Amino acid sequence: MTNEELWRACLAELELNISPTHFKTWFVESSLLSKKESLVELGFKNAYTKQVIEDRYHGQIKTILERLTGEKINLIFKVVAKPEKKIEEKNMGPLFQAPKETPQKTREESNLFSQYTFENFVVGSNNNLAHAVAVAIANKPGKAYNPFFLYSQVGLGKTHLIQAIGNKILETGSQLKVLYCTGESFANELIDAIQSGDRAKTEKFRRKFRSVDVWLIDDAQFIAGRESTQEEFFHTFNHLYQAQKQIVLTSDRPPRDIAKLEERLSSRFAGGMIADMQPPDIDVRVAILRRKREQENLQISDEALELIAQKSPPSIRELQGLLLQVSTIARSQGAEITAEVVYKVLGGHQNNAEKKLAPKDIIQAVCTYYSVRQKDLKGERRLKEIAFPRQVAMYCLRRFAGIPFMGAGELLGGRDHSTIIHGVDKIEKALQEDAKVKQDVANIRQTLGI
Ligand code: ADP
Ligand code: MG
Repeated sequence: MTNEELWRACLAELELNISPTHFKTWFVESSLLSKKESLVELGFKNAYTKQVIEDRYHGQIKTILERLTGEKINLIFKVVAKPEKKIEEKNMGPLFQAPKETPQKTREESNLFSQYTFENFVVGSNNNLAHAVAVAIANKPGKAYNPFFLYSQVGLGKTHLIQAIGNKILETGSQLKVLYCTGESFANELIDAIQSGDRAKTEKFRRKFRSVDVWLIDDAQFIAGRESTQEEFFHTFNHLYQAQKQIVLTSDRPPRDIAKLEERLSSRFAGGMIADMQPPDIDVRVAILRRKREQENLQISDEALELIAQKSPPSIRELQGLLLQVSTIARSQGAEITAEVVYKVLGGHQNNAEKKLAPKDIIQAVCTYYSVRQKDLKGERRLKEIAFPRQVAMYCLRRFAGIPFMGAGELLGGRDHSTIIHGVDKIEKALQEDAKVKQDVANIRQTLGI
């Protein structure tokens, strides 16, 4: 057994023993780096993951590996920036939910995951056109927009939306044959068929793709490059298109920007409807988290959700990952998810907006908003009109720029860190109870552009 095979076998067993959510969170980029006699080195994507696995799964992994190899095993846990062999995410099911049972044959043949639906797709200004087109197609396959070409950066919902089209069509009980594939799987299957030298196999491949009513091709950019793949794709496309079958494609960029894609294909891809999706703004991010909270029945405050949304990079996949990370940790500690927990867990994360935020801009914004002079904000006076804005400044420095307590103390006229902790705490509480404070902070954030 190679190291990779051994690790795959071990993961396959682990997967049976732990929840899909945990499995996916912790093992997604894991690898078995080396095995020298009884010494097995495992690699994980970051220090936090490594720590969790070491604490919680050490025993299980050891037992499984010992059974698989028939040897005594000692484990070494390591952090590797890029694991050599990554366990691919697409084989591990989507976040939070295990794939549901899909008994019907049509569903199985479609390759769809049943939980990617329109119902749990949050619509916002970043994706409303794409969503509307997708819904129209699901209602009238082959009639509304054909082909439909959807593009965006990774993690913004292409797979979710293209699968939602297929799921919706199946759900209505229609007899239409839906087939989801990726550009990559199309290319691989074709190469397999060709290399086998077996004509029956190539014919089977052709029939499979040419007999569908709704063809969903995710990450279509992967068909570019190889001539035979593009040739076959072109003929399949034409065959279906002429028969007025629905074709939907996704890609990480518009057709004309896909390198090494033949002109005849890019012009066909662009010949119908094209829509893109943008990264969600903070409101949409919060809405997505709220939807998750509902679905998963999580105990988490609005404030904590907002903080996660602020800290998230643009990718929705990563946004969900942060929520999962926070909720897993809170659950393991039996704690409710408050802003403080989020801050502790995600303190190290900084989104782009935060990186650009200079402390002096934050102090300026607070002073302007409350009409307080900087000299007073940093000074000793304890008048409520000054002390309160000072505490808001503490909160903003800490939360929006990730300034440590000590640093915030220095920026605010050399206060000690317990004063800052107290101030931040007070504003945090006020944000829960006092609409005026909430509004103030929202307004300040707005002037800071976050
Ligand atoms: P892409 O294919 O563009 O890389 P995915 O479709 O895989 O992105 O989306 C990443 C994750 O984010 C998935 O778990 C998906 O369910 C979720 N997601 C994306 N967009 C939305 C949305 N608008 N509402 C709810 N969840 C979303
Ligand atoms: Mg995708």
